[in-house]
Amino acid sequence: MVKLRPSKFGAPAKRSRCKAAARDTNQAHRKIGLHASVQSHSPRTTRLRDLEQSWTYPDIVRMTNVAAKKMLVKHGILKAPKDKMYCWQCGSLMSYASSSSGQSSNAADTMQCANCTVAGRRKLQVKAVSLSYSPFWKTHRSGHEISYDLFLRTAFLHGIRTPVDAMQQLVPESGKHVTNQTVRKWVDHMNFCLAYSVMKMADKEVLKNELVEADGSGFSVLKKSGDVKHLKRTKPAKSEKGKAATKRFWNQKNEESRHGRFAVLRGRFTKKSILKPLPSRSVAKGSPGAGETVKEFSRVVKKHVDGSSVLACTDSGSAVVGAFSAIGVPTAAARHSLDEMTPTRTFKLSKLTKGQAKMIRKASVCKRPAAVLSPKKTVAKVLGGDNFSEAEFSRLKRSLRRVNKIGRMSPKRAHIDPLAMQALLDAPGLMTVLNAMSLYRQDRVHSLGANPMHFGDLVHDKSWLDV
Ligand SMILES: [Zn+2]
Repeated sequence: MVKLRPSKFGAPAKRSRCKAAARDTNQAHRKIGLHASVQSHSPRTTRLRDLEQSWTYPDIVRMTNVAAKKMLVKHGILKAPKDKMYCWQCGSLMSYASSSSGQSSNAADTMQCANCTVAGRRKLQVKAVSLSYSPFWKTHRSGHEISYDLFLRTAFLHGIRTPVDAMQQLVPESGKHVTNQTVRKWVDHMNFCLAYSVMKMADKEVLKNELVEADGSGFSVLKKSGDVKHLKRTKPAKSEKGKAATKRFWNQKNEESRHGRFAVLRGRFTKKSILKPLPSRSVAKGSPGAGETVKEFSRVVKKHVDGSSVLACTDSGSAVVGAFSAIGVPTAAARHSLDEMTPTRTFKLSKLTKGQAKMIRKASVCKRPAAVLSPKKTVAKVLGGDNFSEAEFSRLKRSLRRVNKIGRMSPKRAHIDPLAMQALLDAPGLMTVLNAMSLYRQDRVHSLGANPMHFGDLVHDKSWLDV
């Protein structure tokens, strides 16, 4: 399909490319001995064919329901029988409800708080405590046996990036009840926890003594309307609120909305990359894209980059260059629109901070140098530009397409699924999935304000996404 870039969207007219000129610029660094990749090439993605796990799929399939439950308890995804429960409203220890209180039909599995009450002066209670803060709590109906073994199968298959529709063929077994919707819900919960673990790990990450690249991209476009809050396709109710929603939806008919927008930061030496969600935006229909703003990048860069010891090697977008210069980081920019990927840029060391100069000196003495110093060591030539962020997005997109997610991602999940995919690409396997679910449970189960009703609920528990 031909991409139109009409002038009405304010897209800059493309300058005519001169590949020969770009080639000269791109190869100039070779003559002075600069290297684009600092370390020897090593793939960041673990290939599935090289993956070795403690369990094979037949091991998991042979597991009984009891053994599977034990394994889930052992890995901290289910409550262990001896685990204590603390009230999420006041923090005090909860006790088992006495059967004489008559409030519950299953007193042995109900706990209550002595201090807190709910409407009607009844004590605050959690029913089915053994399932509390687990993916089974909300969907569990008394009288139905829960298939922990099928859940474990799903986790194994998800760990090796199996599409959900294929899973629906691989998980069920005759005589055991599991619907396609249940499998999908389980996978959604696993993705939620995986995304949570990625965000939590990235939260404290700060790139220092690095050549840093930043870029942005999005994973989902909704062409019906530019109303970014209209997430469901069902018709709004006929209430006043519903009418307002309908009006807003139709008023933005000549716009489209972009969801799942991300900024990515990547360090060239450590190969660390940090994905940060950006808020959804609406743009004119057919326009080339929702570009990132200086404000959006600034927020990410300020938090995750130590400005005094890094140099930015990015594309020359004004937003990203502006965000870096706001924290005193000079940019060695490439111009990807002109096919210019790896230009060399010159810096006077006296104009850089101490940390930046030190970083450049260090980069100039390693085996595959990213910088060279002049004989008097006052001027440095640095290999600018970088294209790894683009590669980061493309690896995510390729894998999301493989599991049928691209194009059919719900806007609500447009941040969750790419983040979860990043976790599964960095470290595929059952343990990654189990650890992520355990981490999320441990963080919620004893913390004040973590209502078990909102466990794993994207509507109520998304502050960690930091959009
Ligand atoms: Zn309480």
